Amino acid sequence: MKRIYLDHAATTPTHPAVVKAMLPYFMDSFGNPSSVHSTGLEAREAVAQARDSIARLIGSRPDEIVFTSGGTEADNMAIKGLAYANRGKGNHIVITSIEHHAVTETCTSLKDQGFEVTYVPVDSEGMVDPDDVKRAITSKTVLVSVMHGNNEIGTIEPISEVARIARDRGVSFHTDAVQTVGHIPVSVDELGVDLLAISAHKLYGPKGIGALYVRAGTRIAPLIHGGGQEHGRRAGTENVPAIVGLGKAAEIARNEIANEVTAIASLRDRLIQGLLERINGARLNGHPLHRLPNNVNVSIESVEGEAVASSLDLEGIAVSTGSACSSGERGASHVLLATGLPAELARGSLRLTLGRDTTDRDIERVLEVVPRIVSRLRASSPLARGRG
Ligand code: PMP
Repeated sequence: MKRIYLDHAATTPTHPAVVKAMLPYFMDSFGNPSSVHSTGLEAREAVAQARDSIARLIGSRPDEIVFTSGGTEADNMAIKGLAYANRGKGNHIVITSIEHHAVTETCTSLKDQGFEVTYVPVDSEGMVDPDDVKRAITSKTVLVSVMHGNNEIGTIEPISEVARIARDRGVSFHTDAVQTVGHIPVSVDELGVDLLAISAHKLYGPKGIGALYVRAGTRIAPLIHGGGQEHGRRAGTENVPAIVGLGKAAEIARNEIANEVTAIASLRDRLIQGLLERINGARLNGHPLHRLPNNVNVSIESVEGEAVASSLDLEGIAVSTGSACSSGERGASHVLLATGLPAELARGSLRLTLGRDTTDRDIERVLEVVPRIVSRLRASSPLARGRG
């Protein structure tokens, strides 16, 4: 039985061309990019090429890219780095109520250090109102952070509008673009952002590598001190193979993105429509239109999302309930609750995220299996039977 992987928001398989590009940098060109000899130079050039490739994908200058250990570190670097560098200006940060934990937990840690955080709400489709952000900014605000595409419900936020509001008030703006870079066209200038977080393993690159875009002129304090790599912004010998992998993944994304977006979005729409038609009491979470091309998130009455996901796994179909990062936690997702969904429905939610390899037949099979599993679970559930 072919396994069907519909959890690309959690992670993507590494593209074979990415692995191939990385391999020489383990054994042949293994040098330290800081070394003066030619073995070091080879590694240095590979890092520079990867930096160029990422810069091209997001329309930045190469020297505005700082390599990190992933999306989590990029978010930490953006938020803490900006906050520490601007302590003299203010101590207030504005974020939304649906940010990833890499942002919310970073802000919580800053609260312990005397910073204040305002959480802007979202509407029932997960969309932030730019006017709410405007009202939240005070004379003490140093940073506004609004994610680009939500990892659970797929809503794409009006970043250029919100970023303009921050800029007009002289406040720096960060966006967590971990779910959008490589999936939809992203241009740092069109978005008007100062800081933008990227993670390689969400765009068919390796895990444990990412990047932070830092607009020229934006001051951030380094979080990791040492040998002064990355122009003093992130010390430590560069993870050359992983950086090369991220560069290759960015190059592939740049070439493929235009075709991919429409193809994946049309499979997504078939899946959404099919699930809503075939399952009574199913509803779509997130925005119907301003939505990541690969994201399907549905809440299903009278079932536990975890029970559905486990049954699907037995049938060879991998999906997630809420976000992978919070699976294992009991209770409902903070993102779904922030959209006003009752906790019971939030716990009955399933996230299916498509990828490059998802086919029509995969969607057909999922549309056959999910309704069957839901009916079976409902038939054996006292909760569902009680409702008649
Ligand atoms: N932000 C978002 C929106 C994410 O989806 C993730 C990954 N789940 C991260 C940040 C963290 O990225 P990483 O896994 O590379 O640390």
